[in-house]
Amino acid sequence: MSTHRPVRRMIVVAAASVLAAAVSVPLLAAPQPQAPGAGKRVLMVWGGWPGHQPKETVELFAPWLKEQGFEVEIADSVAVYKDPVKMKGLALIVQAVTMGQLAPDEARGLLEAVRGGTGLAGWHGGLADSFRSNTEYEFMVGGAWVAHPGNILEYEVKVTDRSDPITKGLQDFRMKSEQYYMLVDPNDQVLATTTFSGVAAPWIKGAVMPVAWKKLYGQGRVFNTTLGHVVSDFDVPEARQIVQRGMLWAARVSGAGEDPVPTNPYR
Ligand SMILES: [Zn+2]
Repeated sequence: MSTHRPVRRMIVVAAASVLAAAVSVPLLAAPQPQAPGAGKRVLMVWGGWPGHQPKETVELFAPWLKEQGFEVEIADSVAVYKDPVKMKGLALIVQAVTMGQLAPDEARGLLEAVRGGTGLAGWHGGLADSFRSNTEYEFMVGGAWVAHPGNILEYEVKVTDRSDPITKGLQDFRMKSEQYYMLVDPNDQVLATTTFSGVAAPWIKGAVMPVAWKKLYGQGRVFNTTLGHVVSDFDVPEARQIVQRGMLWAARVSGAGEDPVPTNPYR
């Protein structure tokens, strides 16, 4: 009879290791507590004009957000904005939707979420050329695209705020892309600018235009950059970093307790 004991013991040991493995799997899969985005949910929404490669750009940044510990959900329609379950408790919405349409109940869902404290971040036309007839939306974003004179050209981006968590340590850099001409809210805190040469529209020569800004809308933090016409624009490290850090700031991971200080050029 005693010969059965080692066998039984082995079975017990094997069962215990299976149990231990089963218990440890969810612990390993959960974000590490020290990850900056741990416990925070991000909704990424893409759609609109396909020339801006909205799906590709969202898929460029989604893995990075997951690496930071965020729980990331991707939606391919703004219809998600009218779903109160999906919108509840979001730390951040990242939107890449150029020239889309926003139905009244979708607009209400988005605006109320940001006003209530959810962050909003985006780039190029995906945030600041999205729903052209929606003035409340534009009021939230703090700027609206109107032109890119000369289409694809080389231009310089000047980092004007080198102490902000979004642009800290970054040097001025060059882009070969669309140079966005915006109508901009003076309440934005501007972090980087570009100056128009006037080559394609002589009457705007010397105009200094914000390229990245941050602001509040209600309790929500809003970050926008005009960079990122196509996904390869983010091969420029500074452009990619500005978006990554802008998302962290809007999700209240960086800059805790600090509100934007409007640049207000008319003061
Ligand atoms: Zn574009």
